[in-house]
Amino acid sequence: LSVQRETARRKTENTARELWYYINNKLKEMGRVASNPALVQMIDKMKNDLHGYQTVLTDDFYALRHVDKDEEWRIAESRRLGDLVQRRLEFLQNPSDCNQAKLVVCDLQKGCGFGCQLHHVTYCLLVGYAMQRTLVLKSKGWRYASKGWDTVFQPLSKTCTDASGSMMHWGASRGQMESARIIQLPIVDSLHPRPEFMPQAVPKDLAPRLAAFHGDPGVWWLGQLIRYLMRPNQFLTEEINSAGEKMQFQKPIVGVHIRRTDKIAVEAAFHSLEEYMVQVDAYYNQREHHEDIDKRRVYLATDDPSVLKEAREKYPGYMFISDNGISKSASLGSRYSDSSLRGIILDIHFLSQSDFLVCTFSSQVCRVAYELMQTIHGDASTYFRSLDDVFYFGGQNAHNMRAVEKHSSPNHDVLSFEVGDLLGIAGNHWDGFSKGTLRRTGKTGLYPSYKVVNDVVAVDMPTYPEVKE
Ligand code: GDP
Repeated sequence: LSVQRETARRKTENTARELWYYINNKLKEMGRVASNPALVQMIDKMKNDLHGYQTVLTDDFYALRHVDKDEEWRIAESRRLGDLVQRRLEFLQNPSDCNQAKLVVCDLQKGCGFGCQLHHVTYCLLVGYAMQRTLVLKSKGWRYASKGWDTVFQPLSKTCTDASGSMMHWGASRGQMESARIIQLPIVDSLHPRPEFMPQAVPKDLAPRLAAFHGDPGVWWLGQLIRYLMRPNQFLTEEINSAGEKMQFQKPIVGVHIRRTDKIAVEAAFHSLEEYMVQVDAYYNQREHHEDIDKRRVYLATDDPSVLKEAREKYPGYMFISDNGISKSASLGSRYSDSSLRGIILDIHFLSQSDFLVCTFSSQVCRVAYELMQTIHGDASTYFRSLDDVFYFGGQNAHNMRAVEKHSSPNHDVLSFEVGDLLGIAGNHWDGFSKGTLRRTGKTGLYPSYKVVNDVVAVDMPTYPEVKE
């Protein structure tokens, strides 16, 4: 499919989506201030009518995506390119002579949760790929499984796991780093200087093909790195399969992740179950407009044990599937130092296997699931609703949008800009407006989300010619 045509199609879809957010929000605002009963009635009628337009429009876009087996092509192309990346990683990670190979070394012990630690290793593997250095992960004494990474995942390498010898720390001069055999990486927050290949950049040689089938190449690329890292070992494969069977995990299914407990008030706001379910309802209503849905399934992942009961009581029309409460086979229990490892891996796995995700992107758990989801579908970049942040990678380089329309506003909290300007995105308010910083002036403010497009950064990285397509 041509990049031009697909870019235009995705942009049209995005403009319609942003238009819908805008109208929806404005009608709500008008409803709040309108006191004239005739006007209130008219607003209600309009909301109803518009809902009809929106449903049909969304279906039209769906039809357009599927015309001429285009969607099959996207899925196949994503698989081909993804498999190529996996083979390159396999090649990188298995040098024939480890003593000669250049290495980066990372320590898994970052003081944070599983999603955060996984993203830490993702960044390490990315540095390895971009500098053509095999990643050696130090994982003994891991707080989730004291025997280390291989307790649940396939080893990152079959030939090169030992990084003894003198190590250079990140930050030495470029020349020194290039000649060093082993480089030790800090946590991403302390990475100075910051290389341009950091997320959400993509390898330049893959960028043109990615642009043809995917709406958010940077996320797809991260998904491939995580796919390699999270390859389950035989033990975990069996756990995943048996959990899936016990739960009767099947499609259609929407993945809902509700992050509460320690996150609330510190790093994220509280969101009620109803806020998530409004989005789930909307998803199924839309699908039911063009197909029969036998059962409205939800895979519910949460760190708040009270949510599952609440969901089953409040939404009897739904089937809630959850790993919570599925008995663990006793013989396997001792494999994990911390029994929460099994739960979080399974939750991420099943969330990523879902057709659509509803969650808060402030949580690393949901961001990992979203990244992995990209490796399964052709283009799952729009298969989500985040109740808070836009997607980001902790420690990423500046994420810029590029203005494709001019905007002038007399309003001091709204930015004025020219075509071609870069705007660093801080967040989408999901009401037609986003917040960001106009790079040219440094000014921060709101801007209409539909007047910008994602500025994909493509960076030269090794092309691994030894690995054939
Ligand atoms: P974040 O704090 O949500 O950004 O993500 P982290 O992965 O860094 O830390 C959250 C930790 O809380 C996870 O590692 C899990 O131990 C736990 N947790 C959060 N959400 C879930 C969930 O849906 N299921 C399970 N099993 N654990 C969760």
